[in-house]
Amino acid sequence: MEIKTDFLVIGSGIGGLSFALKVCEWGDVVIVTKKEDSESNTNYAQGGIASVLAKDDSFDIHIEDTLRAGDGLCDPEVVRRVVEAGPGCIKELIRIGVRFTRKRGKEKEFDLGLEGGHSKNRVVHAADLTGKEVENSLLRAVKAKKNVKILEDHIAIDLITQHHLKDYTRKPEEKIKCWGAYVLDKEKNQVLTCLSKLTLLATGGAGRVYLHTTNPSIATGDGLAMAYRAGADVANLEFIQFHPTALYHDKANSFLISEAVRGEGGILRLNSGETFMEKYHPRKELAPRDVVARAIDHELKKRGDSCVYLDITHLDQKFIKLRFPNIYGKCLSLGLDITKDPIPVVPAAHYICGGVVTDLEGRTHIENLYACGEVACTGMHGANRLASNSLLEAIAFAHFSAGSAKGKLSSMSDFSFPPIPSWSLEGVFDQQEWVIISHNRDWMQKFMWDYVGIVRSNRRLKQAKSRISILLDEITQFYKINPITYDVIELRNIATVAKLIIESALKRKESRGLHYNVDYPHKDDKNWLTDTVLTSEEI
Ligand SMILES: Cc1cc2nc3c(=O)[nH]c(=O)nc-3n(C[C@H](O)[C@H](O)[C@H](O)COP(=O)(O)OP(=O)(O)OC[C@H]3O[C@@H](n4cnc5c(N)ncnc54)[C@H](O)[C@@H]3O)c2cc1C
Repeated sequence: MEIKTDFLVIGSGIGGLSFALKVCEWGDVVIVTKKEDSESNTNYAQGGIASVLAKDDSFDIHIEDTLRAGDGLCDPEVVRRVVEAGPGCIKELIRIGVRFTRKRGKEKEFDLGLEGGHSKNRVVHAADLTGKEVENSLLRAVKAKKNVKILEDHIAIDLITQHHLKDYTRKPEEKIKCWGAYVLDKEKNQVLTCLSKLTLLATGGAGRVYLHTTNPSIATGDGLAMAYRAGADVANLEFIQFHPTALYHDKANSFLISEAVRGEGGILRLNSGETFMEKYHPRKELAPRDVVARAIDHELKKRGDSCVYLDITHLDQKFIKLRFPNIYGKCLSLGLDITKDPIPVVPAAHYICGGVVTDLEGRTHIENLYACGEVACTGMHGANRLASNSLLEAIAFAHFSAGSAKGKLSSMSDFSFPPIPSWSLEGVFDQQEWVIISHNRDWMQKFMWDYVGIVRSNRRLKQAKSRISILLDEITQFYKINPITYDVIELRNIATVAKLIIESALKRKESRGLHYNVDYPHKDDKNWLTDTVLTSEEI
């Protein structure tokens, strides 16, 4: 089956929906999303969106904080554009119905949170359910548009480029073009050819490459892997942010204890009740995330403990329930009253700073392909993302990309699609060896956690590289001869992204931002003040 549209948007988080809402003014939009429409990293964001809204704040201070966190690798022009776009983005979200929390008794003023690495209170939030509020409002707005179609339970397999044309051989210097994507309709078990003049990748992050993560199950790095396979450059994938405080509990699947808990005065303690952050950073609990995550990792490894504790029992009980209703409710459902008991926490993979390389308008190296949100590497985050800058970047770049796509679409009035073949089932039959999928997935996530985690070494990275090569070969073979399924698509993508992360980590022979290698424990500005870029030809 074939679908034709002006804009194909892959992903229905903040990036995809914000873009769709803009571009539907100029053409028809199809959004494909691999689960339910709201299921996304966006939906789980708690802390909020960083933006300059307070009187004592300024764009320059927000820019300075972002550049400091990025440790030399942010693109200052991108940072300025995104930070300056912030207040406008917040206004637009309010316009479509997002209800941000206001100060008690001062309804006109936002209740601005303080998070690690920020030198001013600038995080606008909807209690501790910001993501859900934003996601629901965007979905409502998008669903009100007649020319936007959302296809749930549709997972993109690969981008369509000239490599899919019959008898095609690439000419030297020829630019790769994107004409949409092959998409599996899970319910009908049928692959659609979704043809589009312009395509946006907004598939989010890749936390599920790791054993412990705060990310929901959709975050398997699909867009990154698809773009890389299609020939786009990807960059800075060694910079994985490990959130210091995921809830440590058997029954808490990936539940995050927001940075805002430390922002409001939460104190980290060891099993013994002792504090420890004062040994690691002058800002203690409010040090940048990588510092806090490494400090916890160090204390856990040193003592053989399974978790540390985040203590807010000294705060007013009423305040805790009002400020953190989601965290309070979730913990209570697990038998933990956070107004009385310290919260057991461990670090977990949270955010990938690198991604598909884009320019200032969200364009990738592939013609007619845009990327925004966590899948993209725009230059905003450099070697380390400042807390709550990612929702801001996603929405700002969705707007920049939409502006660019408008111009591009209007120049395509004579456009016609080349003869794109349907998805081929040649040589495919069920080998009945599906155990390979779950086994390989578990194994990969575990060795990525142990060998390519918070603290790395050359030896472990090299071992990870040889393991992933064997696995990727095995998975690619499996993919070629078995019927296409949701699980196979994800497994192939996880393996591809794991390989790209390992390659990037091996390339960088220094420690900077979120990448820490014990064999090169220092920063080396002379040789490494540069992005780690991988292109398909390189691997
Ligand atoms: C627990 C948690 C808390 C966070 N808190 C904050 C915060 O307070 N502030 C902040 O700034 N950031 C926060 N972040 C990060 C932020 O939420 C994400 O970076 C951001 O939401 C990413 O938005 P996105 O649109 O790029 O991707 P997502 O919101 O993840 O959306 C990706 C979409 O792509 C779809 N998709 C993926 N692959 C495919 C495929 N192959 N085919 C079809 N569809 C596909 C998914 O189903 C989903 O709809 C948090 C993240 C987590 C996990």
